[in-house]
Amino acid sequence: MLPTVRMLLTVLGVVVAAVLPAHAAEALVVYSARNEQLIKPLFDAYTAATGTRIKFITDKEGPLLERLKAEGANSPADILITVDAGNLWFAAKEGVLAKVNSEVLNSNIPAHLRDPENRWFGLSVRARTIVYSTSRVKSADLSTYEALGDPKWKGRLCLRTSKKVYNQSLVAMMIARLGESKTESIVKSWVANLATDVFPDDTKVMEAIVAGQCDVGIVNTYYYGRLMKKQPQTALALFWPNQADRGVHVNISGIGITAHAKHRQAAVIFLEWLSSEKAQNLFADENLEYPANPRVKAHPSVEKWGTFKQDTINVSQAGRLQPKAVMLMDRAGYK
Ligand code: FE
Repeated sequence: MLPTVRMLLTVLGVVVAAVLPAHAAEALVVYSARNEQLIKPLFDAYTAATGTRIKFITDKEGPLLERLKAEGANSPADILITVDAGNLWFAAKEGVLAKVNSEVLNSNIPAHLRDPENRWFGLSVRARTIVYSTSRVKSADLSTYEALGDPKWKGRLCLRTSKKVYNQSLVAMMIARLGESKTESIVKSWVANLATDVFPDDTKVMEAIVAGQCDVGIVNTYYYGRLMKKQPQTALALFWPNQADRGVHVNISGIGITAHAKHRQAAVIFLEWLSSEKAQNLFADENLEYPANPRVKAHPSVEKWGTFKQDTINVSQAGRLQPKAVMLMDRAGYK
């Protein structure tokens, strides 16, 4: 009798052990530099569709990376979400992200928007483009990023600070495309055309143009989208530069699986879902960005800005050349 009971308990034990993790343990843990308002709806949709719960914390990318490094193998994080390829590149370099070989991700995310070593993947695209006053500038006056250094823009250009990673990535990509010395003369010519001191953010650049302080600037498209949503009559428009050559500078908001993920399999499935047609609009639309998956259309209010050719150089160059870009901007007097 006793051996039978023991056998039964053993079988039950195995059954219980096999069933428990599926019900109790499969909560993914996400560290996100993208704020709660942008990621929560996405996580809720995933939990509703799959039953997989997602726990998350949000913070700036610097502290999140420090935390991942300090926690090491004990980190509860499975996934890191952050903006700008420069930040993702740096996280990979610091060793906190693991390679993911997924046919689904490789097919959904264009090669230039993901790490050549598969440690991070772009999920949405932000274009950093030219914005201009429709009351004082005609689109025919504009052509390339380089041409913003022409003497005709003297005292008419507004720029955000060079301390922001977005501008460091923009200049890094110019170095990759045009070489260091040509890029340095371009940045110097921009500085010579500045109407006023650099601004702390893209919205302030647009407000300065509206106020008549300057006529042209460079911003990420979603800041323009936010401003136009609040004040649709604002006399500003976007211009897509370099359409006859390399295309518009784009960057990403992206994701990687951590080196010590405890739920790696579930994390890969989540990443694949995020890259799919079902989820891409949930990820991109809330912030008025472009879906990274080219089979998915942007939000109608983003589509209104028109189509453009984007620079298809791999965005990892933004990270690789960032130290050079920072030094170059310093030499050029770009504050
Ligand atoms: Fe931003």
